[in-house]
Amino acid sequence: MSENKYDVMIIGSGPAGLTAALYGSRLGLSVVVFGDIPGGSTYMIQHLSNFPGFLTEISGTQFGTMAFQQAQQEGAFFTMTRLKRLGHENGLFSGIDADGQQYTADCAIAAGGRLPKRLAVANANLKGVHFCSICDGPLYRGQNAVLAVVGSDNTAGQHAVTLARVAKKVLLISSRDKLTMDAAHIRLIEKQENIEQLLNTEVTRYKGAEVIDGIALSTGSGKAENLNIDGIFLAIGWRPNTKMLDVEVEKTSEGYLKTDQKLMTSFPGLLAAGDVRETDMWQVLTACADGARAAKYAGEYLEQN
Ligand SMILES: Cc1cc2nc3c(=O)[nH]c(=O)nc-3n(C[C@H](O)[C@H](O)[C@H](O)COP(=O)(O)OP(=O)(O)OC[C@H]3O[C@@H](n4cnc5c(N)ncnc54)[C@H](O)[C@@H]3O)c2cc1C
Repeated sequence: MSENKYDVMIIGSGPAGLTAALYGSRLGLSVVVFGDIPGGSTYMIQHLSNFPGFLTEISGTQFGTMAFQQAQQEGAFFTMTRLKRLGHENGLFSGIDADGQQYTADCAIAAGGRLPKRLAVANANLKGVHFCSICDGPLYRGQNAVLAVVGSDNTAGQHAVTLARVAKKVLLISSRDKLTMDAAHIRLIEKQENIEQLLNTEVTRYKGAEVIDGIALSTGSGKAENLNIDGIFLAIGWRPNTKMLDVEVEKTSEGYLKTDQKLMTSFPGLLAAGDVRETDMWQVLTACADGARAAKYAGEYLEQN
């Protein structure tokens, strides 16, 4: 048997993958983890303030580094490279990493997370461009801030309502002529006096040197306008990271992996955890919970097969 043969192969070293590695190793499984950033998307979190247990401020990077070290101490092996392709041949999952190294495993956990879509404008990565109102909205508390939300679906509605509690004013900007969110969200939006809807409107430019301080808009009638803002929250969609999966597996229309109650996908032996799977909350805590459960059910699958 090859020395690169493991019980479980984990794709992604974010909170879901690291927790699956920690729990899997502690259950006595041999575990290999693919990923080039220990902590995954947590490096984008300035202050991880909604994860219980940390009374002093902790950044996403600190959290990710500690979780990585913890899983490593328990015996998980980290390739520190990305997985190029996950296949399934001769009853085993087979993976090839970015360095061309081959690995096999009886079971695999997809934990590649998801990436937020950004606006195709210059300076798209300025500070003050956010994707998570629960996470970053509190940064603007007590500052009389004017915040923009771009999007028209339930996520955009949720962002607008969440931000209306901390901001002086929220501009809900959509290129559509009407919002696509459900009636309950529309009612919530209309109840908030500090939410202004700008429909038929596109953001064409971000302004600001390092931090965004304004946006240029183009309206349906072709009119251009400039507005001062303190931050912008984008809800224009996400891309689940599943491109490396070269096995047939069921996904939602948005590309999230469908799982059963034991986090098993439609492909036997392939589980999914964290933001990459169809779920209703995309947070560090829920990704960690998924990782723990995926490791448990991977162990159960290995016992039974
Ligand atoms: C800007 C921002 C702020 C946020 N703030 C908060 C917050 O304050 N609190 C909170 O709870 N949540 C917050 N979140 C959400 C949180 O970061 C995610 O819910 C969480 O990181 C999901 O964990 P995950 O392990 O499922 O995915 P991720 O953390 O995204 O990790 C997946 C990793 O897998 C990697 N990967 C993808 N494909 C491959 C491949 N082929 N091979 C190897 N690796 C691969 C990805 O590059 C990524 O590094 C925030 C998210 C963003 C974007």
